[in-house]
This record gives sequence, structure tokens and C-alpha cells, in this order.
Amino acid sequence: MKAAILTVGTEILFGEITNTNTVYLSRRLNDIGIDVMYHYTVGDNPGRLAEIIETSLRDCDIVITTGGLGPTQDDMTKEIACQVMGDHLVMHDDILEFIRNRMLSYKTVMTENNVKQALLPSRCRVFYNDAGTAPGFALDRLRKGDNQSAERRQWIACLPGPPKEMTRMFERSVMPWLEELTEGCLVYREIRTFGIGESDLETKLLPVIDGQTDPTVATYAKNGECSVRVASKRNTREEAEKAVLGMIEKINGFVGEYIYSTEGEEYPFVVGNMLMSRGLTLSAAESCTGGMFGAALTDIAGISAVFDRSLVTYSNQAKMDELGVKPETLEEYGAVSEQTALEMAEGVRRKAGTDIGISVTGIAGPDGGTEEKHVGLVYIGLSCSDRCGGKTICRKIDRRLKDRQRNRRHAVLSMFDMIYRNV
Ligand code: ATP
Repeated sequence: MKAAILTVGTEILFGEITNTNTVYLSRRLNDIGIDVMYHYTVGDNPGRLAEIIETSLRDCDIVITTGGLGPTQDDMTKEIACQVMGDHLVMHDDILEFIRNRMLSYKTVMTENNVKQALLPSRCRVFYNDAGTAPGFALDRLRKGDNQSAERRQWIACLPGPPKEMTRMFERSVMPWLEELTEGCLVYREIRTFGIGESDLETKLLPVIDGQTDPTVATYAKNGECSVRVASKRNTREEAEKAVLGMIEKINGFVGEYIYSTEGEEYPFVVGNMLMSRGLTLSAAESCTGGMFGAALTDIAGISAVFDRSLVTYSNQAKMDELGVKPETLEEYGAVSEQTALEMAEGVRRKAGTDIGISVTGIAGPDGGTEEKHVGLVYIGLSCSDRCGGKTICRKIDRRLKDRQRNRRHAVLSMFDMIYRNV
């Protein structure tokens, strides 16, 4: 199946918003074995929108649009989709009811514009909007064959522009519909790794990537981490799941030491759940990350059962006052050192009375490095009670990268990695 992605909105052409919808949809369509042939963006202009939909359908089976589904004057995707696919808008009473309830839950009055959102093509498949009001839909047409080609069915799927609405709708409603269309059952899993670069990961996985048609295996790099996506399409869900699990096992054999989730979960979530299931309490002392570790952890619902505190101890004075780091240690080895990281981890664990104390101290950059201590140098300290190994250890990271945000993000992930691998 061949697809085109068409994002609608003058704001995108002006560069006012970043077109994340195209990236997301491309990835997900590729995951399920649909070939994305084209990316198009068009402003809020009816003539050009119609033209681009026709152009997309010249050699694609499906075009997926995002944006322009709202109730305002410049939102015209519905009308143009009908025009091209040969349909017309009608009032869908069930959708009207859905929107009315949604507005009630927002404690907002329903306007004439909201009523317009329940106008949808007469013979479409509706995709409900769990995160907003504008529903999405899919519509098909039969394209007459010519001398060279036979008659074939084509589809347009129109989704809302706001990424939160679009991605939810895609996962909950569009994916199952695409599975029906592509006949067969698709299962995919995301394996998350930390501590290995994408090219290294790909090289190590070449034996399973090379010549692979099903399950497909692809690596992705994002925000300092690499993921491997495994997808299989078979006649039944059981067969596809079996194929994916078999492949995950193989991948584990090659790069198991870097994997922390085979379910696509993020590191804070994995570590948070591990601590909660084992009933191990945690406290942290952060210097260069300034609270980012604590913030990531507190994203997880229920984490208060195990997470006690994260102290931001940026200055030497704070490290001494709050954590009991010795002045001699700071004098002799400096704030960014193994000795300081260890005393920070021990200090916070002692103060909080938790099972685990984790610490981080480093030079985030872009300036501030020396010959001896480069920008990007980070130490992570870990102190564990007897309940979880009774050890106090330190990890040194020397990435020599001058990017402040990337260094800080990497330091936070390393803290989670340190706990995951050692507790
Ligand atoms: P609404 O009902 O909110 O009007 P809509 O379906 O009409 O939704 P648009 O008005 O086109 O969507 O876009 C709404 C917002 O969604 C934009 O202001 C922008 O913030 C976001 N958005 C739209 N398209 C994209 C895109 N391709 N990538 C990322 N964000 C987008």
C-alpha cells in the first residue's frame, strides 16, 4: 500500500509551527508496512488543496491529511475531501451528541461552530476525537481504470491538526482501520536502549536487519537514546505476536545489555515501576541537572510511594550544608569528581533515610571546562542500603560534548540507567 501525507495549514508554510505531524505519521505508517511516497503541505486554499489531493492519489492508494478540520472559515478539509472523493456533508446525529457531551464536560456552551463539526461526509467512517471536538474520518472512492491500469479503490483519511488529538486518534481508531484495509494483522513493538549509538546498534543488529522482510527491524535515534522497532504482519494476531517475540529474543541476544524496555516505555517509567514493585525508596541529589531527574520521576503517577526527595545542590556550600559533603573533598578533588558524587549520594540517602541515594555532578557547558575536566564530564553516584546490594559506586561519563541541554538530558538518563543496572 502506498501513502501520501498531506498537512494543511498556512502556519506550517510560514514556518510558524514545526510540522511534527508528518514525522509522526511517516514513522507509524512505516512501522506497519505502508510505504510513504510523498509529503505535501498546502495552505488554507481550497483550489490548491483539491489539486494536491488529486495529485497524491495519482499513484498512492491513500492520502492522510492533518489540519483544517476545525469549525472556522479557513477550515475546509472536509468540504474539499467530499468534492474530490464524490460525496457531500450531512449532519451525523451521534457525533452531534458526542460533541454536546464533550462541551458539557468542558463546562462550555455549544456554539453554531461546534454544531458544524458534526457535519461529515455521508458515507464516511468516523474517527472519534478523544482529546478534542473535531472528529476525523475516512472516505473512499473507486478510481476508474484506464488503458494501463485496472479500477482501484482509494482512500482519504482526514485527521485534526493538533498533535495530541491527531496522535490519539491515529493510535486508537486509524491503526485498527488500516489493519483492516491492509488485510492481515500487524503487531509492532518498540525496544528501548540506552548507552549505545545508533550506528553501533545497527551494526550489531545487522544479522537480523539484513534481508529481513517480516518481521521488519529498524533502528531510530531520539533525544540521546536509540530504539529498535520490530513489526510483523501475519494472518492472525497470534502469528504476528509470535514472530515479533521471536525477533525480540534474537535482538536480546545481540544487544541485551543495552535494552531497558521491550514495551516502548521510557526510562523514568521503567525505573519508577521497578522501585514501586520492589518497595525500594529513593532520594536524589542533583547539581548540573538542576531538578530534571526529580521532574522526570514525578511525571509518574503513584511515585510518591517510593520517591522521597531530590535536592538541588548547585553550589559547593549547598553540597556541604544539605548533604554533608566534606570541605576537604571539594578542596582536594573539586565539585565535579568521583569523591564528591559519592559523598552526595551517601549524604542524601542518609538525610532522607531511603534505600537508594543517587547523585549527579558535572560540567554541562558550553563553557567552564578545563584541560583536566572537559565540558561534558559527569559523575553519577549511587549509594544503596543493605536491602538492595549495600554498595556505593560511581560512574564517570566523559562525552566531551559542548551542548548544555544534551549533556543534562544524558546525565538524567544515566541516573536512571545507573539505578536500573545496579539495584
Ligand atoms: P482545530 O479544531 O483546533 O481548529 P484543525 O484540525 O482545524 O483543529 P488546524 O487549525 O489546522 O487544525 O491546526 C490547529 C493547531 O494544530 C495548529 O495551530 C498547530 O498548533 C497544530 N498543528 C496543525 N498542523 C500541525 C502539524 N502538521 N504539525 C504540528 N502541529 C500542527
